[in-house]
Amino acid sequence: MSAFFLGRPGDTPSGGAASSPPGWRRRLPRLYEAPMSNAAAPSPAAANDDVMKKVVALCKSRGFVYQSSEIYGGLKSAYDYGPLGCELKRNLMSEWWRDMVTCRENVVGLDASIIMRPEVWRASGHAAGFADPLVDCQVSQERFRADKAPRPAAPGPLPITCADKGVAKTYAEIIEKKFGVVLERDGNVLNGLVASSATEFGYVPKGASAPTQTWAWRGYVSPLIGSPFLTAEKSFNLMFRTALGAVDPMQEVAEVTAALTGGSEDLPTAIRAKFGKDAAEGTVLGKAIAVGDRAKMLRAVAEHVTSSAMVYMRPETAQAMFVQFRNVQQSMAAKIPFGIAQMGKSFRNEITVEHFIFRSCEFEQMEMEFFCEPGTQLQWMEYWKDQRMSWWTRYANDPTKFRFRTHEKDELAHYADGCYDVEYLYPWGWGELEGIASRTDHDLHAHQEASGQSLEYVDQEKEDPKTGKKPWKYLPYVIEPAAGATRAVLCFLLDAYCEEERTTATGEKELRTLLKLHPRLAPIKCAVLPLVKKDGMPEKAREIIDAMLKAGITAKYDEKGSVGKRYAKHDEIGTPWCATVDGQTLTDGTVTVRDRDTTVQVRVAISDLVATIKAKLENFER
Ligand code: ATP
Repeated sequence: MSAFFLGRPGDTPSGGAASSPPGWRRRLPRLYEAPMSNAAAPSPAAANDDVMKKVVALCKSRGFVYQSSEIYGGLKSAYDYGPLGCELKRNLMSEWWRDMVTCRENVVGLDASIIMRPEVWRASGHAAGFADPLVDCQVSQERFRADKAPRPAAPGPLPITCADKGVAKTYAEIIEKKFGVVLERDGNVLNGLVASSATEFGYVPKGASAPTQTWAWRGYVSPLIGSPFLTAEKSFNLMFRTALGAVDPMQEVAEVTAALTGGSEDLPTAIRAKFGKDAAEGTVLGKAIAVGDRAKMLRAVAEHVTSSAMVYMRPETAQAMFVQFRNVQQSMAAKIPFGIAQMGKSFRNEITVEHFIFRSCEFEQMEMEFFCEPGTQLQWMEYWKDQRMSWWTRYANDPTKFRFRTHEKDELAHYADGCYDVEYLYPWGWGELEGIASRTDHDLHAHQEASGQSLEYVDQEKEDPKTGKKPWKYLPYVIEPAAGATRAVLCFLLDAYCEEERTTATGEKELRTLLKLHPRLAPIKCAVLPLVKKDGMPEKAREIIDAMLKAGITAKYDEKGSVGKRYAKHDEIGTPWCATVDGQTLTDGTVTVRDRDTTVQVRVAISDLVATIKAKLENFER
């Protein structure tokens, strides 16, 4: 799958929100994340780029991840998890659930609806403030997030790096026409622009010592070509909206508008003038014009320009835990401190979807809200910080690629009193995997105010520190470890991918590709292989498979190709063990069990096989 940054048909972000309220929770990103296009993306180290490409290719060829709607050209914002990918994702999320909920007395689960009352998102601040600053490059028309764009040093040169010489020529012409300066072409690079300060850039002709023309600058350039010629920033709300119920809002808009405009103007001409080729014959607008019905035309116009903002698709799983805090606390008689955990889909209309499944519009999260007494939150944050890092590194081959990044004071939302990111060293640099934030009582307070319902916790045994009297009624403080599950899939695939040169039995050198996935994450735990398809070996292998499947071990029967090829295939998809039925099996009831990482084979009695694999799964340590 070479194009893991495919364009999505009609990919024009819409919407837009008021500017973000101060201290909005979305953390300020530090990482420059260029989209992985086929063309002129500033390239990280070639080897790293290569690993990413190999993992993406393996994901497709081995059934981990496919581009969504691929036969129609693909949808860049969405991915489908294939037979092995959905097992891997499910295993990973089960491990999180096991660690965060099943193995803890003080954390309970929740599985809330994706669509909630719009008031939830108004109270949480998402409706007004869940926005990214959107900018267009005036040269290449690239659309990107200002807060993720590269910030070259100032003073210093601002070269524009194009895909090739032809593109450089075209862009030089555009710049000359729009901005009146002739940049010097050096192959695919356009020179002559310089950042004179953090707020100004200029054009310095060859041989000149000072700029002959200057422009105001916001300190960043477009990610793909490095252009400082940019539009103003527009705030773009990331929430998806949809309509709920049997009302068709589009029809209502159409009818009202049709009545209001009353036939006083030539509607088809007005539509064509406004929408140009979007209203050509055969398009939705064009067809509506052809029918000649004003209501239909206006309906098509309404559909074209707006989406009906009835309900939102949740952009995070977290808010449900606040909204259901009282229900969960009372129905479970839960005592503070306790947590509510949830995992599942979230949706964000991301301006830049990038790096394969690292950032997509539909993704999965694993989040927990831990409610504690005011004043104890910072100790709990440290506790969860350690717990979470221990979870990530437990499954990793290379724990040194995980680190914390402490948020600076000016990065914190106004209500937060601490935040760490767990970061992973992706092939393009360090990037976020999880945020662990101390959110005080901000969320419960906001929902209490907006709903008019008390969300206070009543501790009958404790005295209120202010009055010295029992009970103590308070809004609990919250620690939120919020991780991305689909991003974690990418992280563990990258961590597991490796190539090893080895010498075969016949002395030849060969390259072995393997996914060193932690066995509990691996999609298939054990492959069962008859050495040959005769002498009763397939039947014996089938018996073993049946026993494993009955015991709940994901096992796979595989008889196709030479045993060496089968081992290689299972190495590549991360199967930790292969049990092979051979001639000896038929005489002494043992099979060889081959270890993926060491390739060492040991003989195990069939009668012990299920227990052996189970013990290995439970006790596996790196
Ligand atoms: P980023 O800075 O990468 O946009 P964020 O700070 O907005 O992330 P949070 O709102 O804290 O992210 O969400 C928690 C986790 O959800 C993130 O750490 C990340 O792992 C995951 N996540 C967020 N947005 C996406 C996305 N668009 N695609 C995949 N995973 C995501």
